[in-house]
Amino acid sequence: MKEPSCHNWHVHAVSMPDFMPLKKLGELQGKRLRSVVESAYANVACFRKRMDARKVKPQDIKGIADISLLPFSEKNDLRTTYPFGLFASPMKDVVRLHASSGTTGKPIVVGYTARDMEVWKNVIMRTLAAAGMHRGDILQNAFGYGLFTGGLGLHYGAEALGATVIPISGGNTERQIMLLCDLKVTAICCTPTYFIHLMEHAEKMGVDLKKLPLRVGVFGAEPWTEGMRLFIEKGAGIKAFDIYGLTEIIGPGVAAECERHCGLHVFEDCFYPEIIDPVSGKNLPDGKEGELVLSTLQKEATPMLRYRTHDMTTILPEPCKCGRTLRRIMRIDHRSDDMFIIRGVNVYPSQIEAALLKVEQTFPHYLVILTKANGLDQVEVQVEVTREVFSDRISEMENLRGKISLSIEHVVGLRMNVRLVEPQTIERSQGKAKRVVDRRTMNPGDKL
Ligand code: ADP
Ligand code: ZN
Repeated sequence: MKEPSCHNWHVHAVSMPDFMPLKKLGELQGKRLRSVVESAYANVACFRKRMDARKVKPQDIKGIADISLLPFSEKNDLRTTYPFGLFASPMKDVVRLHASSGTTGKPIVVGYTARDMEVWKNVIMRTLAAAGMHRGDILQNAFGYGLFTGGLGLHYGAEALGATVIPISGGNTERQIMLLCDLKVTAICCTPTYFIHLMEHAEKMGVDLKKLPLRVGVFGAEPWTEGMRLFIEKGAGIKAFDIYGLTEIIGPGVAAECERHCGLHVFEDCFYPEIIDPVSGKNLPDGKEGELVLSTLQKEATPMLRYRTHDMTTILPEPCKCGRTLRRIMRIDHRSDDMFIIRGVNVYPSQIEAALLKVEQTFPHYLVILTKANGLDQVEVQVEVTREVFSDRISEMENLRGKISLSIEHVVGLRMNVRLVEPQTIERSQGKAKRVVDRRTMNPGDKL
């Protein structure tokens, strides 16, 4: 009953560029890169100055392999030229503005021409088609609508695919569940954290998600783990797909999983991926982990050349069994600025999540609190446990606490204080989850 129905001809047509022969893909990338570099050089002072400083002219870029001649760009370039300094198109050609959610500071602004909107629609159609969606699907779009690229980005691509879109946006959880049931929704998109929140809420309302026609979940905008996927797939009876994107490049639609669930195909005809060593800035070969750098090959309004995403991943060079020729990146399990250092050990929230998911009777709801006592870093991991455990005997709680602590020590290599908290005490996010609270610089007497 939950089997995906056959892809129709429309979906095949949409996905055609995913299967392009590599030689043709390389030529197309080269041609598009030349044109985007010409436009960026002619219209954006920041790119021109940086290329001049490196003594690189647009004519030096003959093919895609020459991309490494170009200088990098980074988030700070968007901030220092705020709001329109990186725009390559006149405002009269810009039909849409978006801003990043500002997870790491002041928002940045990007623009889209009518052609950019077509490209965006196209990559979202391909994203959803890769997740097995097609005309006739009913999509509940629970990504936030507004300046955040998630909601509106998914919206137009889904419509173009022929799906019926319910533009509910994030939040209003009870209504989300009611509509999931009443409107016979077959697909949903939101952050993975928000979906887990929906699962919990459905249970409270006595709704069994497994019994609904809901078949596909398209989740992204924040890191999540394989354990979380299993938790979602088992708990809701759906197939869960990871999608990746960022405002600076276009929004969602940069890379997406196919039915094989082994890495995310990058829509390389539109966004060219490289992996670099985050410290030296040197290119790393496919198969090595490093920082993802992306160049837009078609963007008109805000082209981005060799943009340093701070997202850490690996390019998988082997062809995927699905037949797509687009290279894949491994799921992004952390961004370099998410990392915190405890007593000299680098720790990522995703490691803690992975450790928790190994222990039964816990929820993947946790909060890491960093403090300092007598000059030493202290970590407390608050973990929500099921109601049964909480009302159980103290010794059982202690037992569970020990198990979690061991699991964390095993994965991270560090012992951390674990505190078990009652269900629903950790704040739920309607968008991206906040996993770490760093109070280390807030202690009186501490030097900033
Ligand atoms: P902000 O930088 O303010 O969060 P965006 O809303 O543009 O702005 O978020 C883009 C970032 O979100 C990416 O750079 C990445 O760190 C994260 N992200 C997006 N999708 C995923 C995903 N599927 N897995 C892990 N991280 C993701
Ligand atoms: Zn594939």
